[in-house]
Amino acid sequence: MAATQMEQLVSLCKRRGFIFQNSDIYGGLQGLYDYGPLGVELKNNIKAAWWRSMVYERDDVEGLDAAILTNRKVLHYSGHEDTFSDPMVDCKKCKGRFRADQIGGVCPNCGSTELTEPRPFNLMFKTTVGPVVNDDNIAYLRPETAQAIFTQFKNVVDSTSRKLPFGIAQIGKSFRNEITPKNFIFRVREFEQAELEFFVKPGEDEKWHEEWKQNRINWWKEQGVTSDRFRVYDQKPDELAHYAKACSDIEYLFPWGYDELEGVANRRDYDLGNHTKNQEEFELEAHCHENPESTTKLCVRDEENNKWIIPFVIEPSMGVDRATLAILVEAFTEETLDNGNTRIVLKLKKHLAPIKIAIVPLKKNSPEIMDKCHELKKKLMKLGIGRVALENTGNIGKAYRRHDEVGTPLCLTVDFETLENKPETVTLRDRDTMEQIRIATDELPTYLREYFA
Ligand code: ATP
Repeated sequence: MAATQMEQLVSLCKRRGFIFQNSDIYGGLQGLYDYGPLGVELKNNIKAAWWRSMVYERDDVEGLDAAILTNRKVLHYSGHEDTFSDPMVDCKKCKGRFRADQIGGVCPNCGSTELTEPRPFNLMFKTTVGPVVNDDNIAYLRPETAQAIFTQFKNVVDSTSRKLPFGIAQIGKSFRNEITPKNFIFRVREFEQAELEFFVKPGEDEKWHEEWKQNRINWWKEQGVTSDRFRVYDQKPDELAHYAKACSDIEYLFPWGYDELEGVANRRDYDLGNHTKNQEEFELEAHCHENPESTTKLCVRDEENNKWIIPFVIEPSMGVDRATLAILVEAFTEETLDNGNTRIVLKLKKHLAPIKIAIVPLKKNSPEIMDKCHELKKKLMKLGIGRVALENTGNIGKAYRRHDEVGTPLCLTVDFETLENKPETVTLRDRDTMEQIRIATDELPTYLREYFA
């Protein structure tokens, strides 16, 4: 059962160190959050799972890590300067500002219907580069990671000799000055995206779009988002962005309703076309903007037909923060135990769990037991399985509850038998079943490596 109460989850995230309000001690800054000691582990594990699936387990994808600050021309010719905006209205009564398409003509603050006409509000954060502040030095914080993949297309092709079809993957921060950030880390002003731009021959695009849609659905299932709270919405022709041929939204049923986790779009030749000079030399399908400032043609040689072509692109674009939230909502479970007590468990997949194993002393005031705990921790930390924690706050029951709540798959307990038994043994408690097994400490490295493989 997934969390139905956002407040419960938000409170757990703060209490246990997953996610904090940014600038908390100064009252926060709207639309910004910081990931705490456990949140950073969870988010890193999600990113690693994405990178593994997109790059390491394929032989047709290269990686990229581009700068956040972006030359104004890139976002001019990509179309963002002119069109990357949301419709904004002001409430004439309470002066609140809202996204027109989200409020249905009624001010969510005071209920008034006296609103201004909607006008476009560009979502990009602007800054200046260098000591002189003038219009020539304007740069943007990127609103998506994708543009650098397009502008570096030629460099990647030239340095790797890639042939179609192939993709370029990137994970990184993006910034959008959202009019109304909301729903915790769902809609924020600084977030991370994991984006793949997969370049294909025109004509093979529909097949690849379908293939990527399935690939991404499978990936979400592997992360534990498998319940009936997950759906794919294929946009209708009149809902598509003007350059897109198709777009499938992967959506999750959050406590406030279905909302987008990821878009898998067929963007045709729009992006590479926009950044290409002498566009008239190509038979572009998308309606691109003429580009007198580009120094390059972002094309590849089609050996079959003996001509230069601009590839189509299929783009699976995921929000890492939204992924983190959906995975947390999905994992959050409140269980009633046989004795009538309730426990909260984060049933995270073990590859995503922030802490892999917690070492718990049966008695924290026993020096022998504590020494053994420290010794085991040192040993397990070197296995490369991820974070190992020593949990010596509170009693053993509290330690188990604490680690259930943060999703630690295994608790290892050192007790008096550990000190007496030959060979030396400890107990391992499973988070979900709460069952315990006894295992010799010599067998732990092999057991744990296999368990977390
Ligand atoms: P929305 O319609 O929700 O504003 P979008 O369709 O504009 O999103 P895209 O431009 O397709 O989003 O970005 C790809 C992904 O980046 C989204 O599916 C989402 O997961 C993530 N994303 C976009 N905007 C935000 C945001 N403000 N906060 C967190 N994640 C975001």
